[in-house]
Amino acid sequence: MTTYDTTQATAAPTDLDPRVDETTRAFLARPPRLLIDGRFVEAHSDRVIDVVDPGTGHVIAHAAAGDAVDADRAVQAARRAFAHDAPWRRMSALDRGRLIERFARLLEAHADEIVALEVLDGGKLRQSVIENDLPLAIRHLEYFAGWSSKIEGNTIPVSMPDVMVRTEREPVGVVAQIVPWNFPLLMAMWKIAPALAAGCTIVLKPAENTPLTALRFGELALEAGIPAGVLNVLTGYGQEAGEALVDHPGVDKVAFTGSTAVGTRIAQRAAPMVKRVTLELGGKSPNIVFDDSPVDEAAAGAAAAIFSNAGQSCSAGSRLYVQKRSFDDVVGRLGEIASAMRVGHGLDSASQVGPLISTRQHERVRGFIDGAQEQGATVAAGGSSMPSSVDPGGFYVSPTVLTDVDDTFTAVREEIFGPVVVAQPFDDIEEIARRANDSPYGLAAGIWTRDISRANRLARRLQAGTVYINMYGATDAAAPFGGYKQSGYGRDMGHANLESYLETKTVWTSLAP
Ligand code: NAP
Ligand code: MG
Repeated sequence: MTTYDTTQATAAPTDLDPRVDETTRAFLARPPRLLIDGRFVEAHSDRVIDVVDPGTGHVIAHAAAGDAVDADRAVQAARRAFAHDAPWRRMSALDRGRLIERFARLLEAHADEIVALEVLDGGKLRQSVIENDLPLAIRHLEYFAGWSSKIEGNTIPVSMPDVMVRTEREPVGVVAQIVPWNFPLLMAMWKIAPALAAGCTIVLKPAENTPLTALRFGELALEAGIPAGVLNVLTGYGQEAGEALVDHPGVDKVAFTGSTAVGTRIAQRAAPMVKRVTLELGGKSPNIVFDDSPVDEAAAGAAAAIFSNAGQSCSAGSRLYVQKRSFDDVVGRLGEIASAMRVGHGLDSASQVGPLISTRQHERVRGFIDGAQEQGATVAAGGSSMPSSVDPGGFYVSPTVLTDVDDTFTAVREEIFGPVVVAQPFDDIEEIARRANDSPYGLAAGIWTRDISRANRLARRLQAGTVYINMYGATDAAAPFGGYKQSGYGRDMGHANLESYLETKTVWTSLAP
């Protein structure tokens, strides 16, 4: 199915990396459009968003800046697709699952395109997208494809005679899904897959910084046979397109991943309409190393926990606590690992740390490093200066380890969202349980020790949605993920996530003769 009018294609950018293939170049040269009701359409206004390669700082494409008029069109399309007699609603649950499975197969078949777009748009490492983001996205669809035919109600033994009571599970309706730029493909799939499995229809608002893969996989969803209007992609600014979706009376639920500040605002705006809201927000996750843990293993684990995706992960292990006796060894080794990591463009296979997403994030992260130094922190590795080997136009920050901090430092309290870890010593389990929980956030935590009963005793005391023991950062479609405290509510992944896309209807029938 061709949904795209190529006659209006704009010229491809000429200064693209020579490694970018023809298919990707053609995609980047497309005119800015929204995906509404199964077709690529012009936005209401002709304003566009520059799509930038964070590795070079160059503009590589343009996306449409959808506004409230476009949000309304997208919501209307999703409402029509949700009508009781629309194909999506009349389809059997098994067929719905088949289409989700076919969508997964198409993502797989178009892996090269998706990977290229994700790398260029998000500044991500090509190898990471190939090994993590894309396969995790595909498995996510596969996992939820199986669920669609297993959504069942109950029969309820109520305490009166001659009555039958049963529950039915129904899709919640039209959902607005607002996602961030750190894992553009994966964060979208975390939300799309369960919503489709439940039978909802969707308006997806990708981050303004990373609109590209969503436009491509939206097209693949159509090709898979998912009916027009079921998955609409509204590119645009959060305060415009995003807010218009949150405010729209035709939206039944908002699923959001991003900052706690925006999540709070969304919950407030949705409250007067009693809209369902789930929030996956920020974190400042403690990673705790006991002194019986092998130094190399703990240091490598700590490095991976903070430096993967250049620290732009909500669950990043950004507060490192090492038991006093091994503090110098572990942090010394971590500093060596950080200093040896190669910073560079995601298309370069030697790169181990890519750029940050934008100049804004770049300034923000460097501001945290400078601020910590002003408060008295020591830069044990990395720091604000840019490695000389990288493209000066890109938004790079060296992997950075800060020591000589305490729990009052801004860099210890706030989510930095960059490759910056603050390392501090601790004495015992009592102290670390208290300090680890001394944060408004509660997304994840890591524990490194050979003493598994101690690890599990501490795990029970940590206020965190996910606790990793002798590993860090893994996710799986089957394992619930989400926050305690100001890291949000509701869970992504696992069958628990389906619940947030379902209503329960209780049906009473009189059996009186
Ligand atoms: P953000 O502003 O929370 O963005 C997340 C999504 O929400 C984007 O699609 C954004 O659109 C949209 N949005 C923004 N304002 C909105 C509003 N008023 N109503 C509805 N939607 C809105 O996050 P950010 O600005 O990209 O990053 C800021 C900080 O958030 C980071 O430094 C980091 O600390 C945190 N963050 C956390 C996660 C996570 O996974 N937990 C992910 C990303 C960022 P725009 O793209 O147009 O802003
Ligand atoms: Mg933003």
